Order: sequence, then structure tokens, then C-alpha cells
Amino acid sequence: RPGAATANAGQVATWSGGDRRGAAVSIHGVSKSYGQLKVLDDVTLDIAAGSVTVILGQSGSGKSTLLRTINHLERVDEGFISIDGHFIGYRRNGATLYELKERDVLASRVDVGMVFQSFNLFPHLTVLQNLIEAPLSHGVAKAEAVSLARDLLARIGLSDKAAAYPRQLSGGQQQRIAIARALALKPKVLLFDEPTSALDPELVGEVLDVIRELARSGTTLIVVTHEIGFAREVADRVVFMEAGRIVEVGPPDKIFGHADQARVREFLAKVL
Ligand code: ADP
Ligand code: MG
Repeated sequence: RPGAATANAGQVATWSGGDRRGAAVSIHGVSKSYGQLKVLDDVTLDIAAGSVTVILGQSGSGKSTLLRTINHLERVDEGFISIDGHFIGYRRNGATLYELKERDVLASRVDVGMVFQSFNLFPHLTVLQNLIEAPLSHGVAKAEAVSLARDLLARIGLSDKAAAYPRQLSGGQQQRIAIARALALKPKVLLFDEPTSALDPELVGEVLDVIRELARSGTTLIVVTHEIGFAREVADRVVFMEAGRIVEVGPPDKIFGHADQARVREFLAKVL
């Protein structure tokens, strides 16, 4: 991609070589504002392939916006993000050095799956139709898409629900289907934005079980959650955000046991 090469060669010496190579997701100097409000403020984070990163922080700290920039639902004002070595955005000082092409956005959406708090299944489609819709629209043959969908249903323990409609399922089941749907495009990275926050407490466990299984199988996961017990168990790294900035990053033992920052300890004291 000529545009990427130009921006890369001219401006981002550290990106093409050195310690960033091999990172599944590289976020470098990303800032984003809504009007006067700076929602992401110089965020830099490298996420290794196959790792599980949990993002914590108060409501309004920019967690969802960060996920949405990784998935290209939002543009960054400054900085860049690369997915598996593929550069997906770079601007600096308001001057666009690399204007993202629509086809690049679509390609990056295949690489990055996202699961939202509200399950967002298509209500008028059956479970199986929900699972094959995206692969079909990306040119996968129907027999192959159906076969993959059935494999995914088996993996999440819902093979018997292929012909059901979303309204016939519990919230936990719908969210497990939403996870399967995100996996149907075989993404390199899966993002979760508070995947259990909309669920009744008794349904949280079954969804966390599916995410836990993905973590074990080596899928690269970035998870925004307030489920501290889960974070402690599955996270390789915990990232704490405040006012659009990353204020502390560390392994769960460190963050939950003896975080350096008092504000991190105070937040955890409230949610634990
Ligand atoms: P979190 O997920 O940590 O709760 P968000 O990323 O959703 O935080 O929001 C960060 C800040 O950005 C909040 O102050 C929020 O009100 C604001 N914000 C988010 N999306 C928009 C938008 N589309 N327009 C204007 N402000 C927004
Ligand atoms: Mg949010």
C-alpha cells in the first residue's frame, strides 16, 4: 500500500522495525477528541498475539472509544494503529498523511471482531442465518459458511439452537451467539466491550466461560469488563485508563495486589 509506505517511511521510524514487530495490535500515540473533549490522549499500547488484555477504568474514561478506534468504528485524530502488521490509520497534527480507504476499513473489520454489551443479533434471522450472514457477504461459499457456523455452535454449546430466533433465547445464549458471530470471520483480534454488563447475574458465568475458552485457545483478546475475578484469572495484562490516558499497565497480580497508582487502588477498592 503506497500510502502506508509513505507515512511509515517518513514519520514512524519505530513502527517498521524494532520492538513493535510481532505485536498483534500496536497502538501508538493515538488521540481523539469530540469537539473540545479529548477522549483519547496519546494512548500507546502494544498487544502481543495470543494474549489477553483487560481494560479497566471509570465510566467515561475512553475504554469504548479505544476499542472503537481499533475496530475502525471511529477515526483517530492523531497516531496510528496496526493490526498484525497491517497499518490501519495514521494522522498527525491535523494533517492527513494517510487517508484510509474504504476497502482498508473493510479489511480491518475482518481482522478485528467485536462483541458489544447489547448483543445486536439480527432479530429477523435465525441463529444459523445470523452466523453465516457476514461470511456470505465476504464471499465465503454457503456450504463452507454453514459448516463453520455449525462448528462454532458446537464450540459454544448451542448446536440445538441453529433454527431458533434471538427472541427465543436467553440473554446469555444471545451473547454466546454474538461471540460466535464475531468468530465467523476468523478475526485475528476479538474485542469485547463489557460483554456481561447487560446480563442477569446468573447468566454472566456462561458467557465468561466462552471467553475463557477463547483465551485458552490462543485468540488475541481485548476485554473491557468490570468482572474483576475474571480479569484476575484470564488477563495477561491489565490496562487502567483515566480521562483518556493509560495511567498504569501491569500483570493482574501487580494491578490487583499492589498497583503503583493510588487512583488505581481506589478504583479497585470500589469495584471489588
Ligand atoms: P467508557 O467506555 O470508558 O465509559 P467512552 O469511550 O464511551 O468511555 O466515552 C469517553 C468520553 O467520550 C465520555 O465523556 C463520553 O461522553 C464521550 N463520548 C463518547 N462517544 C461520544 C460521541 N460520539 N460524541 C461525543 N462524545 C462522546
Ligand atoms: Mg464503555
